[in-house]
Amino acid sequence: MTGEMMNVVEPLTVASSRPGPKLGPKPGDGFNLIGLTRPELVAAMAELDVPERQRKMRVQQLWRWFYNRGVNNFDEMSDLGKDLRKHLAENHSIARPAITTRLDSTDGTIKWLLRLVDGNEIEMVYIPDLDHGALCISSQVGCTLNCDFCHTGTMPLVRNLTPEEILGQFMLARDCLNDWPQQSEGPRENARIISTIVMMGMGEPLLNYDNVAKALNIIMDGEGIALSRRAITLSTAGLVPAMERCGRELRVNLAVSLHAVNDEVRNKLVPLNRRHPIAELIQACHDYPSANNARRITFEYVMLQKINDSLEDAHELVRLLRGLPAKINLIPFNPWPGSSYECSSNNRIHRFAAVLNDAGFAAPIRTPRGRDIMAACGQLKSDSEKKKRSLKP
Ligand code: SAH
Repeated sequence: MTGEMMNVVEPLTVASSRPGPKLGPKPGDGFNLIGLTRPELVAAMAELDVPERQRKMRVQQLWRWFYNRGVNNFDEMSDLGKDLRKHLAENHSIARPAITTRLDSTDGTIKWLLRLVDGNEIEMVYIPDLDHGALCISSQVGCTLNCDFCHTGTMPLVRNLTPEEILGQFMLARDCLNDWPQQSEGPRENARIISTIVMMGMGEPLLNYDNVAKALNIIMDGEGIALSRRAITLSTAGLVPAMERCGRELRVNLAVSLHAVNDEVRNKLVPLNRRHPIAELIQACHDYPSANNARRITFEYVMLQKINDSLEDAHELVRLLRGLPAKINLIPFNPWPGSSYECSSNNRIHRFAAVLNDAGFAAPIRTPRGRDIMAACGQLKSDSEKKKRSLKP
């Protein structure tokens, strides 16, 4: 990761929103315990004067309440002593982000606008399918990448989300959809309403690698949320230096927002390309540790009329991806107020797809979901910004 890229978000990281327990005098005002690693939680137990020999066991109990049963208040944690529960409630929180607005699309997609403790807002989207569903999670407030066709890039403010805010989105969605496993000790049912997670909401997850990794590690932990790494896809605009680490350490599925086949066009659509041009990005995909034929890399390709959708572009895409375990998602461009692009015609999208299919690539044309509630790709941007502006004289 280049120092320069990191600096864009560094001054805005939120370590300060997680004060030590001594700074939280009001009940429930202390730092949030969601998203802490086991050693961090052991340290928090020590701060509460839990005897040393009990700490590990307490942490195990807490994890079960937090991540297996989804309990969101300390009072229900029946195997912890009354005093400890009181102490926990006085010094800590396990709150999820707050819901500002929930919008339900006619196609079943749900979008939530969520408010964080500092008042910033992010969005989360649930996209149901026939027998399962994907939860689209944000990794940052806003985004620094400024992709020309993406609405999120127009948000002025950017900061990294904390592990608790990333994990908290998932936990909140399980609350809202009533999707926690049975509160018994029995085996978990297999079918969950949320079966996959896509890190495709606001922000560039690899620019917030540490916090994203911490949250995903709890999601993938057998004693945490226990979701398989195969059920998680992380999408990047191509932050090459962090891709290898992601593949080695997290081993989640990778999606790459490619969107163009030559540097001239991609420099404009995805300015990050000026730092990590296409050849470098494709090489990083060849090197991605967990990719193979069973777990292909998804290439996202937004269809922009007469910008990146010619037959020559399609042939060049085939050439670029040859030899990679790849599938291509063709995403019809979702317009937003003020955007300067148009979606490719149906005809052009189908001719483009045919070239890819003929070359042996799976290239589904994605049906836009939740368009009526502005929840489709690239439309995630808090309406609150607009509302705030319209309140000004
Ligand atoms: N920063 C990461 C995660 C965001 S994922 C990334 O770029 O991959 C969101 C996906 O939606 C990306 O592929 C993005 O390029 C795409 N997208 C953004 N705006 C869009 C729009 N208006 N129409 C269709 N897709 C869009």
